[in-house]
Amino acid sequence: MAGLNPAFERLQGNYLFAEVRRRVDAQAQADPSADIISMGIGDVSQPLVPAVLDALRKAVDEMGDAATFRGYGPEQGYAFLREAVVRHDFAPRGVALSPDEIFISDGAKCDIGNIQELFAPGAVVALTDPVYPVYLDSNLMAGRGAGPDGIILLPCVAENNFAPALPGRRPDIIYLCCPNNPTGTALSRDELARWVDYARREEAVILFDAAYEAFISDPAVPHSIYEIPGALDVALEFRSFSKTAGFTGLRCAYAVIPHGVRGRASDGSLRPLHPMWARRQSTKYNGCPYIVQRAAEAVYTPEAQSALADVLAVYRRNAQAIRRTLAGCGLRVFGGEHSPYVWVKTPDGMLSWDFFDMLLRRAGVVCTPGQGFGPSGEGYARFTAFASEEHTARAMERLSSLF
Ligand SMILES: *Cc1c(COP(=O)(O)O)cnc(C)c1O
Repeated sequence: MAGLNPAFERLQGNYLFAEVRRRVDAQAQADPSADIISMGIGDVSQPLVPAVLDALRKAVDEMGDAATFRGYGPEQGYAFLREAVVRHDFAPRGVALSPDEIFISDGAKCDIGNIQELFAPGAVVALTDPVYPVYLDSNLMAGRGAGPDGIILLPCVAENNFAPALPGRRPDIIYLCCPNNPTGTALSRDELARWVDYARREEAVILFDAAYEAFISDPAVPHSIYEIPGALDVALEFRSFSKTAGFTGLRCAYAVIPHGVRGRASDGSLRPLHPMWARRQSTKYNGCPYIVQRAAEAVYTPEAQSALADVLAVYRRNAQAIRRTLAGCGLRVFGGEHSPYVWVKTPDGMLSWDFFDMLLRRAGVVCTPGQGFGPSGEGYARFTAFASEEHTARAMERLSSLF
């Protein structure tokens, strides 16, 4: 028989959400009348806005007419969308990118999972802990982290204000997620600048995940790592229409690969990552659907922007309600101001899974145990603001009578 990739044996299984589901199903069986409200999974609940739907329908019609039909598109994405991205997401913030530094895709998860292919098999990876599991698992699958030296964990806990300290030894690749999933917290401009300076000094590359950028509510928090001087030489940025515009089912995202970001080739020379990513994508990917890219382009219209502001306001109110309620219960709450996630310290040193079970059994409310995101998540739980306002209000009512 064919030998199998041994790296998969070191993965934790799809442990976290499978285990959450198992426990929720068991509770629903034990108490069929329980009205269980999920504040666990990070998926949006509000529908696509009308301007996006109109663009989608129009593009669908184009596909049915020989004069406007589109087959294979450019692997990197259509110029109309790459130009819109640069014009709306970066130029207003003083970031000078060219459209050919933007790579459109069908998801930030795939981009973030695939980008590690550009780096040496022995590259040392630094991850914040707790962490979005994709960063860790995609590197484990590639065989990194097998030895004790492979992966550096940077604890993010209440004691350091969820801002990771610089690593004690040099990493090649640094993953930063800001605003953060799962902690819901954001790094300040100074904290980000410290990382950019560090990466420049140590010749490391920062992989910056800004999937929740739209949730930032404080003008002092940067939306892009490229707002930090020098970042265009050391950072790649990942963005998505998923959480900002409800595209979790429609699928569209982009990666920014600036021409200036380089790594060391086997002959010791410095080479840009941009042509490598272009080569990788054109080999393994055939592009995001035309109709979806038209829908994404419409996200930038004034009509869509104003409708999306209302959607965002729903999630913000939910996050505020979660923060207020849990704080009122005497719990320590973090995040939720620049993100749809509220990160809560469990009471009296309770373990994450015990806290999860208690809320499920006694209130029919599902959170995500922090421990599932890494060892430093133990003693915390994540609540999402993505449920409907009605469900969020009902869940909060139950929790406030629980404590
Ligand atoms: C939801 C999410 C994404 C976006 O993933 P898509 O594949 O674009 O839907 C990226 N990073 C983090 C941390 C996320 O939570």
